[in-house]
Amino acid sequence: MRGLKSLSCLFAISVAIGLGGCTSSPDAPVKDGLLISSVRIVDTVAGSVSEPRDVVIRDGRIASVSDAGTGCGGGRCELVDGTGQYLMPGLWDLHVHLESYKAPEDPELEPANWYAPLALSYGVLGLRDLGSRTDEILALRAAWAAKRDAGEAAPLLKAAGQSLSGKQPWGTFDHTLVPESPENARELVRTQLARGVDFIKVHDFIAPDIYAAITQEALAQGSHVVGHLRPYAGPLESAAAGQKDFDHLPPELLAYCGPDGQAATEAFYGGWYTGGPGYYEREMAALYDHAACGKLFAAAAEAGVSVTPTLSVRAPVRARTFEAAKRYLPEGYLAKCEESKRFRDAAGDDIESYRVMIASVVAGLAAAHVEILTGTDGVPESCGVPGLILLDELDYLVEAGLTRPQALYAATRGAALKADAPDHGLAASGAAADLVLLTGNPMADLAVLETPAGVISAGQFIGRDELLALREGAAQYARSLPKG
Ligand SMILES: [Zn+2]
Repeated sequence: MRGLKSLSCLFAISVAIGLGGCTSSPDAPVKDGLLISSVRIVDTVAGSVSEPRDVVIRDGRIASVSDAGTGCGGGRCELVDGTGQYLMPGLWDLHVHLESYKAPEDPELEPANWYAPLALSYGVLGLRDLGSRTDEILALRAAWAAKRDAGEAAPLLKAAGQSLSGKQPWGTFDHTLVPESPENARELVRTQLARGVDFIKVHDFIAPDIYAAITQEALAQGSHVVGHLRPYAGPLESAAAGQKDFDHLPPELLAYCGPDGQAATEAFYGGWYTGGPGYYEREMAALYDHAACGKLFAAAAEAGVSVTPTLSVRAPVRARTFEAAKRYLPEGYLAKCEESKRFRDAAGDDIESYRVMIASVVAGLAAAHVEILTGTDGVPESCGVPGLILLDELDYLVEAGLTRPQALYAATRGAALKADAPDHGLAASGAAADLVLLTGNPMADLAVLETPAGVISAGQFIGRDELLALREGAAQYARSLPKG
């Protein structure tokens, strides 16, 4: 029954209509689990692959992992033959914006019709939203959680709601809140947590006294702060204030390798609007001092800092991603993606020296045991195709010097723990059944992630043909939107 039920539910999201009802056939035989037989398990914590095993999934969890041939344990299971295949934990994107600002001319891209089917089809099963309109993102989180509770495929979503920001020179977006005073900051933190956000996201240009109020209040309320590294404060100062989780590869991280981090940061931001293509990359490379940064990174590791570098935001758009963008992005967004691609291509040599510098930074962070995690900040305006952009991020991390097992850990167990989802990111007995079935070993070749043999979301199996149907449904949905 589960299989038939899931198929009609998936059909509903794939054609982007009639989301109201998922029906099940009364005549289908009742199965009490899903058996994936003779499958090799990818352990991203140990960095190893097992001998063939039988994996039984019941009620959204991995009920057992046992020797091949054990079978369903006496019950009646739906069978997926995993012979020759690999089962790994689902991937996480720790930096998405599902309900954030959009330009007035662009149509609303409903996450349930566009983001979810694409992300699922690439095995990206966990998402951490770092800045969206609070009411919308919490409603989406609740809707997806309800589907998951009912045993239907949907991403696991964690959300910060609106981020707290200083006054930004480019204006205030509807996914940010700007505290006016430390007292107001404390009140906003309490209000956001009372509304049900999972943590507090801090954005740019926050004054020191307001930043202190935000971090203190979040900790006092039993929560914590994630997001941008505050301008004019180094990672150690921020970590001491209670923020251990930094997104992007912020200039402050490198500026504070030198003797006067504040002056270096100010110089960096001084040219932000006028520098043109390559400015960011050139100035970042100028800030980097390998020996000095090594010492800072070691201290940051000691302080428990982790970094989600979102390398895909700055990297040149790959051919594979651009081809996918043409297929999956609505027309107006594709024009912006092309503009973003041109801007990044124009950075030319600066991008190349940046790439070399990034490799050095990532190697330095990894050598110092600073935890590195996967997030993309991928939005359609910058050619971010949901799911696929996370695969790009994995490739960029490996090109920068992480091993494939390190990158896979970052995207699975490391990310799940960071997102406060402790029963996710593992393919082991008792863990949540959010898994990816692959035709090859991802520790040997990340390209096998592009077209999974199957995905299990909230315990629900989705086979390859259904995954491809989800992609086609998202493409049709994109084409059906008004041109803007
Ligand atoms: Zn972001």
